[in-house]
Amino acid sequence: MKLPEKYCERMKRLLGDEYEAYLKSLEEPAACGLRVNRRKAAPEELLQAVPFSLERIPWTDNGFYYEDAAAPARHPYYYAGLYYLQEPSAMTPASRLPVQPGDRVLDLCAAPGGKATELGGRLGGKGFLLANDISASRAKALLKNLEMAGIPNCCVTAERPERLAEACPEYFDKILVDAPCSGEGMFRRDAKMAARWEEAPPETYSEVQRHLAECAVRMLRPGGMMLYSTCTFSREENEEVILGLLADHPEMEAVPVAPFSGFAPGFGDLPEAVRIFPHRMHGEGHFLALLRKADAVGGPENMAERKEGFRVGDRRKAAGTDDARRTEKALSKEQLPEAVRDFLKLTTLDFSGGRFLLEREQAYWLPEGVDRHPGLRYLRSGLLLGSIRKERFEPSQALAMALEREGFDGVLNLSAEDPLTVKYLKGETIPLSGNAGPSPWRLVCVDGWPLGWGKASGAALKNKYSPGWRWM
Ligand code: SAM
Repeated sequence: MKLPEKYCERMKRLLGDEYEAYLKSLEEPAACGLRVNRRKAAPEELLQAVPFSLERIPWTDNGFYYEDAAAPARHPYYYAGLYYLQEPSAMTPASRLPVQPGDRVLDLCAAPGGKATELGGRLGGKGFLLANDISASRAKALLKNLEMAGIPNCCVTAERPERLAEACPEYFDKILVDAPCSGEGMFRRDAKMAARWEEAPPETYSEVQRHLAECAVRMLRPGGMMLYSTCTFSREENEEVILGLLADHPEMEAVPVAPFSGFAPGFGDLPEAVRIFPHRMHGEGHFLALLRKADAVGGPENMAERKEGFRVGDRRKAAGTDDARRTEKALSKEQLPEAVRDFLKLTTLDFSGGRFLLEREQAYWLPEGVDRHPGLRYLRSGLLLGSIRKERFEPSQALAMALEREGFDGVLNLSAEDPLTVKYLKGETIPLSGNAGPSPWRLVCVDGWPLGWGKASGAALKNKYSPGWRWM
């Protein structure tokens, strides 16, 4: 691989004795990684189910290496959202931000969703994930991945970080800042990045990285935690960004990251940070630093209070969510059109909490804890249930993906080996044998896991699989 000369000089200075080992590691093939979607399956369950072999990634609890030839993206379980293909080191940031069910979580630079889907999975359906990316086109891919992962309690925005910070001061319990960077850690996977480095070296990124980290501090509640990560090696984009932030914010401190034997400590005055080097472990280059904001003076505003139903009124007003609720015209389940209510009764999802919205013939469910802030541009708020046309309800692809295994009264269950499964994923009409349901709608499943919808029409199933998601 041809590396820019200037880059080699910098890496020699950074790595000293380890430089040769680093260079040698670039000749090894990059590892392929698959992360199990904990919302849909336990790692053991997936290990039993897939026809290819997987080997545990030792610093995560749900990540696996696979051989390139296994082609897991060409298996129906991929379409069922059972796993996400992700570079092994890139699994680390979401695994080291201690997200718990009930948290309010922000992923500030989230597209295409490799980390947001894991953060959402960790919430276990409780709390709220706001997944943002400045790029609207990339945020569309993010939305699709969150839908595929079956995460109902999230919103997607395409906002500038300073606008988010204005709208959501001291609002989030956990924030991930997976910053845009010069990508030095990815040269082995993508040689084009090495060429791009010369046009946009590390100094190009430091300013935006500092800005992102600064905005995140503003949005973090007292006692909250944020994790800053990049896939690059330069000190300017890593330690220097964090040490600058700590100097400006005495309320912030660096805290140790859950250890793994292959991790190297951060350089200089930031030993709490983690560096991942390809010559020390089987993954690409990464950096992560975990930071904590001090509790508010006068006592901790802690999570336990909120989880017991105490809402932090003043902060919520500052964040404007009450105003947003007043203007959004939320509905209770009883106020939904009858066709929607009747359909939801056929699912096993518990819609007892939260609120519903009807916007431009689309129905949404915002589970308890999902907030909207006035003035922000939302690509998605909560779970899109489906559309209502001429008093008829048509369920969405997102609703199918959010359901549990066979979570609908009217299932067509196919096996992964059945050729009909791929036919269905290609958008073809498939034969419907025997099974009935109280409505013509069928939830098409692969070995029990939902794939999408179909509608019974005599002995055939009309294909309602989302056209943009089809198997090509
Ligand atoms: N976290 C993502 C994942 O795991 O799939 C990868 C994020 S990628 C490293 C960085 C992202 O930051 C890009 O999608 C880019 O569009 C976004 N970005 C760049 N500048 C930004 C800004 N000022 N505010 C928010 N996002 C930004």
